[in-house]
Amino acid sequence: VSPRLRKALALFGRLPGVGEKTAHRYVLHLLTASGDLASELGRAVLELPTHFAPCSSCGNIAELAGATSAQCAICTDHKRDAKLLCVVARVTDLMAFEKPGTYRGVYFVLSGLLSPLEGIGPDALPIAQLLKRIQSEQIREVILATPATVDGEATALFLRREMQALDVTVSRIASGIPHGGDIEFIDSVTLGRALEGRKTL
Ligand SMILES: [Zn+2]
Repeated sequence: VSPRLRKALALFGRLPGVGEKTAHRYVLHLLTASGDLASELGRAVLELPTHFAPCSSCGNIAELAGATSAQCAICTDHKRDAKLLCVVARVTDLMAFEKPGTYRGVYFVLSGLLSPLEGIGPDALPIAQLLKRIQSEQIREVILATPATVDGEATALFLRREMQALDVTVSRIASGIPHGGDIEFIDSVTLGRALEGRKTL
């Protein structure tokens, strides 16, 4: 395989859910598809970092408008309850919780979970930033909406302990989320109910 091809394959392979086989399929498709798919895709990808960045408050994806600091559409929506904070592992989970359209609070994206097995400790996550935000913005309630996996539960437990000294109600999304379930693939109704039925810890 030519170095150029090998590089393209390796880059596709770094995308979530794309293994060696799929990377091959994508690259072959780009090389053989009619029209301009490869250049169009390349241009669209190239423009992404110029127009989008992680929200400076919550970690959601924010569309950059002008030179103002990046804040997402949720954080800048004044009709939302800024004192109700839902902590999620990933942006895809945030999007899943947004789908039912019933949650009116704001979010904090951890961009990962604690994982002793993979060597991901508290220092690898923006936990200090989360605790600071809870205090400085006088958050009333934190909903721990990490998935019902070993790492998700461990992270929720750790965060609950860290928040014990703070003047804030901490709740955990209700079960009904299957154990080991990936939040982004759970239907909207179940997710809406999980938020509604959250339990104070
Ligand atoms: Zn935001």
